[in-house]
Amino acid sequence: MSETRTPAYQRILLKLSGEALMGDDSYGINRETIEQIVTQIQEVLAFGVQIAIVIGGGNIFRGVAPTAAGMDRATADYMGMLATVMNALALKDAMSRRGMSARVQSALTMQQIAEPYIRSKALQYLEDGKVVIFAAGTGNPFFTTDTAAALRGMEMNVDVMLKATKVDGVYTDDPKKNPEATRYQKLTFDEAIIKNLKVMDATALALCRDQKLNIKVFSIFKEGGLRRVVLGDDEGTLVHC
Ligand code: UDP
Repeated sequence: MSETRTPAYQRILLKLSGEALMGDDSYGINRETIEQIVTQIQEVLAFGVQIAIVIGGGNIFRGVAPTAAGMDRATADYMGMLATVMNALALKDAMSRRGMSARVQSALTMQQIAEPYIRSKALQYLEDGKVVIFAAGTGNPFFTTDTAAALRGMEMNVDVMLKATKVDGVYTDDPKKNPEATRYQKLTFDEAIIKNLKVMDATALALCRDQKLNIKVFSIFKEGGLRRVVLGDDEGTLVHC
């Protein structure tokens, strides 16, 4: 489909959770799901939008759970960060097979499989139209990939943070349980914090608020969802200053 409209954003940070890659499976990476996500990314890349991605690892490993089983929290978190690297490589591979140009930069050095995170290089890749996938979160235990997304989004000077979820925005209540629940079209950061709405984790939300980086929560599972968000259509929920 040809699109003549101008995108609302020139450079975006897309936060994909590990769960987003699982599809309906109970763990791991679902081939069809990753292909569907890549299709959406390809659509917006075609508008000339620069795309940076932070990928989670929850589909493979979540650091907090093993702590309860007696594992050292920092060690568990490093394992979680390694899981994000696997997802990043899978995503890059799926993009490369479509002829898209993508680079993985990791916050933990593992030079045989990914470049280290170098801000200036990442910015250059974006300028060149390459998709940059940031792996290994912040590189520090006790953080999340939501926080990594806020950090990299600010470092990359993106116009907006796009938080991809399974639900198409932030709702007044759980739409699966309450049919009366309605979607917020817009919310201020303060409203989201006061109402304790699950937008991103608290550290990420505070960082975005302080640095005035707006967040759009939307569903990556809705066909064309990412395209509509990038074109500025009424899709998802905008969390703004
Ligand atoms: N993690 C970490 N530091 C970071 C990012 C991630 O220690 O900066 C670990 C943490 O254990 C987390 C796991 O990696 O549980 C996977 O990341 P996250 O839970 O954010 O993934 P998502 O929920 O987005 O799939």
